[in-house]
Formats: sequence, C-alpha cells, structure tokens
Amino acid sequence: MRKGRQPVPHSGKEDVFSSSGDPARETASLGRKLVLSFAAVADGLFAVLFPSTCRFCAVSLTRITRVPVCDACLDRIQAVDGPLCAACGERVPVQGASEGDGRELCASCSQSEPAFTRAAAYGSYDAGMRELIHLLKYEHVHPAANLLGRMLAEVIADLSDAFTGDPVVIPVPLHVSKYRQRGFNQSETIARAALKLHPAGLDWKPNISALVRQKNTGSQTGLTPAQRRENMRGAFAVVRPDDVRGRDILLVDDVMTTGTTASECARVLRRAGAERVFVATVARVLLPEATRVTVNSDEEVRPQVLAAHA
Ligand SMILES: [Zn+2]
Ligand SMILES: [Zn+2]
Repeated sequence: MRKGRQPVPHSGKEDVFSSSGDPARETASLGRKLVLSFAAVADGLFAVLFPSTCRFCAVSLTRITRVPVCDACLDRIQAVDGPLCAACGERVPVQGASEGDGRELCASCSQSEPAFTRAAAYGSYDAGMRELIHLLKYEHVHPAANLLGRMLAEVIADLSDAFTGDPVVIPVPLHVSKYRQRGFNQSETIARAALKLHPAGLDWKPNISALVRQKNTGSQTGLTPAQRRENMRGAFAVVRPDDVRGRDILLVDDVMTTGTTASECARVLRRAGAERVFVATVARVLLPEATRVTVNSDEEVRPQVLAAHA
C-alpha cells in the first residue's frame, strides 16, 4: 500500500461550472449533485443518530469535523516557549549558562554537541499533542495530519532563515516492515501537509529516496541513552549521496524523544557529505518546566526538580 494521502475536500466547482449543453453530461452532473446532497443529509442524520464525541475528553461534538476532537482540547495544544537549548531544543534553566556566542545549551549538548546543527519542535509531547499524533499513527485518522502539518510548518518557517540555499527535506524513514504494517510513514505525511502550506513562502518537496532505514530497531522504550545509541547504530543509510552532498538537510519527524534517531540520521547524512542537518518535529519530549538536568559520566540525564520559583 502507498502512503496515506489526504483526500482533497470536494470543492463543488466542477458541478457549478460543468454546464456543457450536453444533456447526457448534465444528467450525470445532476446525478452527482444528488449523490453529494444525499451524502450531506446522511452525514447529518448519522451525527444525530450517532452523535460523535471528542476522542480526548468525550464531550459531545457540536459540529461535524474530520478530526474527532473538540476545540477546547485542540486549544490546549500550545507551542512550547523558552528558554530552550539552542542545539537540541530541550528546556534549559531560566538562569542557564550561556556559551560565549550567546547560544544557550542544555547540559547534555554542552558536554557533547549533537550531530545536527539545530532541532526545533512545535510543542511538548504531552497531553493533547500525544493523542493527536496517536490518532494519525495508530488510528489512521489521516485528517489529523493537516493539523500536525500546520504546526510543523511554523517550525520550518522559524528555521528557514538558517539554511544556505534550499535544504533537502527528508522525512525520517520507516523500516520497510513497519511501513507495510502501518501503510504510511507519518513523518512523510506530516511533512507533505506542512510543505503544502509553503512555510515562509517556500516551495519545497520532500525527498523520500535519499535516506533509508535498513534495520528494524524496534521500540527504544526502557533503554538507557547508551543502549539507544547502540540500538540505532547502522539503522540508517544514505542510498543517494548525490542528493545530499554539499547540501543543508531539513530532517522531519513527528516526535523527538531523546534525539538518538535524529542524531544517527544526522551522522550518516553528514558522513555522506551533507553540509548541516536541521531537525524539525511537531513534538518533543521535554523536561518539566523549572527542571534542571545534570549529566554524569555515563551521559545519563537525571532531572532534578528545582525549588518552586518564589
Ligand atoms: Zn475534547
Ligand atoms: Zn541540548
């Protein structure tokens, strides 16, 4: 099966402007209008007989929507605000130490800078956001990709000034077995939805053939950072180096958890000659606010909740 393309909403224009004077065509057009009207009535009837509820909070939905989530739940998904690490986008303490050039880095990136130049996310991977991504990924509610794409477009617009020329936009690929199981790559679907909005007036298309996932890494849940890196080693390969050599890359994914996947992609892309790698995701797993991290010799990140601000 091919990727989950969004059905284009019916504009109705072809019905309005299809009068050709040809009775056969007009009859067909009228038939189509009737079918559409019937579909609309059926939709209404269905909503009355089987009222839809918000998938997140179970409140009754007052209007028919392609994403079964109420406005209040969608409004709760907020863009993350700073201060954030200039490299990986993690939260940093309000009074964090700055690098000489004014770039504020988290403890982990201060110790060893990631292979990517900068990662940015729209929001925190928690209440609301997580469910919206799950609607697309696991329940195949494809219209959710348009909402997620809108968020990603904002991230891409924010990053756009940093690129030298047009970057190669690469959605993080799925392993072929995962792709067959899911039927689509959510990163690619969201990337297409975002690029369709022409963030910052740009006209870019995703490149889905330069980078492949050649190892099925399985779930990374429960692994330590060192185990995650080990698990990811050799997972990706650049199969079209000419596409990336000397170019800036915009890697796109739905969620950044610890950054291991993005780092490994960035590593192989740069080894294949890519100039710099930027990462745009819809969501990022973030430390709670007012939390500081310390990094021990194993690079294990331990959150320490600070005393509440006065
Ligand atoms: Zn709701
Ligand atoms: Zn960082």
